[in-house]
Amino acid sequence: MSFLNVRQKETLKLICDTFVPTLQCETGEDERVFRYCASELGVPGQVEIALEKASSDAQLSQLKTFLRLLEMRPVNGLTVRIWKSFSEMTLDERTATLYWWASSPLMMARTAFQGFKRTILAIFYAMMPDGAANPTWEGVCYPGPPALSSDIPHKITPLVVSDSVLKTDVLIIGSGAGGGVVAGELSAAGYEVMVVDKGGYYAEPDFHGREMESSQRLFEKEGLLTTADTSMSVLAGSTLGGGTTINWSASFRTPDNVLEEWAHDYGFSGATSADYQRSLDAVTLRVNVGTAESIPNRNNAMLEKGCKALCYHTDVIPRNVIGCEECGYCGYGCPFGAKQGTLKTYLQDAFQRGARIVVNAHVNHILIRNGIADGAELTLRDADGGSRQITVRARVVVVSAGTIHTPAILIRSGLGNGNIGANLHLHPVTVTFGVYDEPVEIWQGVPMSRFSRQFANLDGRGYGVTLECAPAHPGISAAALPWISGRAHKQLMQKLHRMSNIIVLTRDYYGGQVKVDKQGNPVLHYKVHPYDARHLMRGMLESLRIHRAAGAKELCSPHNAQMLFREGKDGDFETYLQRVEAAGFRGNAYALFSAHQMSTCRIGGDTARGAIDPSGETYEVKNLFVADGSVMPTATGVNPMISIMGVSHYIAQQIKAKL
Ligand SMILES: Cc1cc2nc3c(=O)[nH]c(=O)nc-3n(C[C@H](O)[C@H](O)[C@H](O)COP(=O)(O)OP(=O)(O)OC[C@H]3O[C@@H](n4cnc5c(N)ncnc54)[C@H](O)[C@@H]3O)c2cc1C
Repeated sequence: MSFLNVRQKETLKLICDTFVPTLQCETGEDERVFRYCASELGVPGQVEIALEKASSDAQLSQLKTFLRLLEMRPVNGLTVRIWKSFSEMTLDERTATLYWWASSPLMMARTAFQGFKRTILAIFYAMMPDGAANPTWEGVCYPGPPALSSDIPHKITPLVVSDSVLKTDVLIIGSGAGGGVVAGELSAAGYEVMVVDKGGYYAEPDFHGREMESSQRLFEKEGLLTTADTSMSVLAGSTLGGGTTINWSASFRTPDNVLEEWAHDYGFSGATSADYQRSLDAVTLRVNVGTAESIPNRNNAMLEKGCKALCYHTDVIPRNVIGCEECGYCGYGCPFGAKQGTLKTYLQDAFQRGARIVVNAHVNHILIRNGIADGAELTLRDADGGSRQITVRARVVVVSAGTIHTPAILIRSGLGNGNIGANLHLHPVTVTFGVYDEPVEIWQGVPMSRFSRQFANLDGRGYGVTLECAPAHPGISAAALPWISGRAHKQLMQKLHRMSNIIVLTRDYYGGQVKVDKQGNPVLHYKVHPYDARHLMRGMLESLRIHRAAGAKELCSPHNAQMLFREGKDGDFETYLQRVEAAGFRGNAYALFSAHQMSTCRIGGDTARGAIDPSGETYEVKNLFVADGSVMPTATGVNPMISIMGVSHYIAQQIKAKL
């Protein structure tokens, strides 16, 4: 049964068709972009399903309140000065109403706006009705996913579980950057290893690059996870290999200043040891980190060009690939097997050594006997949609479920250290756009190959922003671009192929919190602290300068209010920057993302500073280790995969010593 009643469904359909209306083309507009409205492609039904899957109970009840309020004449009269219910309004009136909510002083109004805007626009531009190409793609010059048929066979055979109780030496929960490395290391040392992951097993033959279907299969909450107040989209992998299967391959070692901070401020003495450096060496070797295949696509070339023109730092991003075909669809899994995530490396090694790998297996809680970990209780999802409970008994349990889920598992298992769930770092990211005369095609080529750390140390103690580029296909682009009306958004989409982006990645000093709801599910509470927001603002303004220095003719800030600057038409550039700065960062009034979650079970030299001791073991339960992004004492400031692999490799050596 749907969470919406018939009236609410009608309102939702009208909202969809206001975000994406059918419009008559004006000069220079492409019929293929302007002709279709959202309901013509079946978007309302998809949005309803997606919202129900991705939203918490609190978020769903807010959305329903929003739908109810929209149909109340007095509410619209008092807010937008239109004394009609939403369904009585013309398209222009509905547009004015939604735009009022977008820029409203009320956080609740902006929250509801964002929730609908992102989901509706992402689905409209990403979906493939009846499996065919999206009818707008030709108009936005998007070629669609390549017609590939990989002849690389599946190389891992997940365990078919028939028993209700299984046994192993080491149970590893989660198979991403952390869990994959621990599995490889402990299996190499001769231990019996079992890896369980709540995601499914997908590999080269399954990686077709279709944006919507891939997000649904491979991402946490099908790519629609947000923080509790909806202000930030949170992207994380949930598939065998975790984030390393779908990430963008940027491979940085942990910076020395970060390691010193971990050792000095948090008592993680191993961070500055030769052993830690040896762990980084080992993982970078195994996943083949290098710069030989860091060929800049046009998006990255623009970043480099703009930085050079302004004499800002810029350099090449090392990547973990072998034989990259530069197709640009690797964010949905590499169809060529070039990306050296854990799926291709550590997990594959472990599997070949006899490790058992169980997918579609959600760990509910850890079994603990007399203060010692004894295994875990899991729910297995069967192919037919059914589910069943199983128990895995183990001598050692390693929780590597990632920064969002690891604290939830520990809390559900009764652990109470105050650092569990606290200190949530998200590397908050905003994005600016530059429009060029020539094609950029942000979906094509190596997604990340150039960066700038010109503003990485804005406070003298290592906190600031890194500037990079992000690959973006039509759905995610549509969700990120400002919306002030259906026409203005379609006009922006028509320029998408000539648009570059720069992402501003903040090393957040202040953190948020992962709490669990009544069902035990994680909920992310996070607000960008004013201290970090100052850095984000500086980065955003600098990124606009870089676009311009690289030759962009139009600039666009990430604000809902669509702050455009057209060279030669909109006056003085510095005045534009002042306007953008004055718009500030009100929650849900601008595009904000996270692809890097860290620190919710941090390592600390004592129980006040951490939940995990410097060997990776929880302070509260013996033989219960954590190895993933959650153990990082602070945000790394660089893309964290290699740091997570390095820390996990280091922890694996401590587990070996203990076993
Ligand atoms: C779109 C995107 C692009 C990125 N690009 C880069 C990049 O270029 N460079 C970089 O350094 N980093 C990048 N990252 C970040 C990087 O991939 C992650 O930081 C890293 O994978 C996190 O490792 P982890 O082990 O902490 O968790 P994950 O890799 O997220 O693995 C956790 C696994 O645990 C499983 N799990 C969770 N809960 C349970 C449960 N209860 N039971 C069983 N299994 C469970 C999940 O399904 C998941 O597979 C990117 C991330 C995203 C989303």
